[in-house]
Amino acid sequence: MTKEMREGGPGRVGQVKEVTSLANPIVKDIKALTQKKTRDETHSFMAEGLKLVIDALELGWAIRTLVYAKAAKGKPAVEQAAARTVAKGGLVLEVSEKVISSITRRDNPQMVVGIFEQHWTRLSDLYPVDGQTYVALDRVRDPGNLGTIIRTADASGASGVILVGECTDPFSLETVRATMGSVFAMPLIRASAEEFLAWKKKAGVRVVATHLAGSVDYRTIDYRKKPVVLLMGNEQSGLPDALAREADALARIPQAGRADSLNLAVATGVMLFEARRHLLSLEARA
Ligand code: SAM
Repeated sequence: MTKEMREGGPGRVGQVKEVTSLANPIVKDIKALTQKKTRDETHSFMAEGLKLVIDALELGWAIRTLVYAKAAKGKPAVEQAAARTVAKGGLVLEVSEKVISSITRRDNPQMVVGIFEQHWTRLSDLYPVDGQTYVALDRVRDPGNLGTIIRTADASGASGVILVGECTDPFSLETVRATMGSVFAMPLIRASAEEFLAWKKKAGVRVVATHLAGSVDYRTIDYRKKPVVLLMGNEQSGLPDALAREADALARIPQAGRADSLNLAVATGVMLFEARRHLLSLEARA
């Protein structure tokens, strides 16, 4: 691993490097970020697209490396992002299209890629207040589902996504793509099932778990009482009993047709926007 990847930059003062070779060690390190092991070791991840990079910088995310294709050189927004990266001590790489294609594993790659430090919120630092909604996902496996949920949580005004148990990595390329930038806006928290249940008792939240065998129609729940955590089950096996029995309500989304269940991300979206509808009606009355 190169010094740049380990330390998050070449030193206090940033640099601009031109790279055309796929064999360049920094390029190899960036490509290794497709592996979870490397992301974990370096606490970093990759996000594609100029808009995403600019949004992340605006939100204060720490950038380690900005990569842009030669064709993007001279564009004011790219130059600005490069200047901000350098000012923060990051590295800027100007690369050939071949290099950026191989980094993103795409034939028609984005012209700009940012390597950012991962940021997690600690469960013990989470003090939900009335009017807030969180999503808790039990062992979510599918990167596309997780990305869609993070994006939907952001769009519904939720306050964070809690990953319970062994979940897919929110910082994988596929998940980050599916979040469409919301990965930078939504606090992410991870916890074991035990930690989550212990926190639930202390934090004074109301856990509304969704379950195919739920006894309550999700539309009859009042989401305005206490901060609400919407707890969603794993794609294959649903919610385990140990979590379901600790919930304050077990909600069911009534279905028609022959489908056994809704897709996890769709079910989460339905729940989030129902909770939002309740909270908005409270605001309207105030
Ligand atoms: N075979 C799984 C089961 O038996 O629960 C299906 C899991 S479903 C694909 C994934 C998650 O989405 C569920 O655990 C639940 O949280 C939520 N979900 C999907 N459809 C739902 C529905 N109609 N009512 C309540 N929750 C639902």
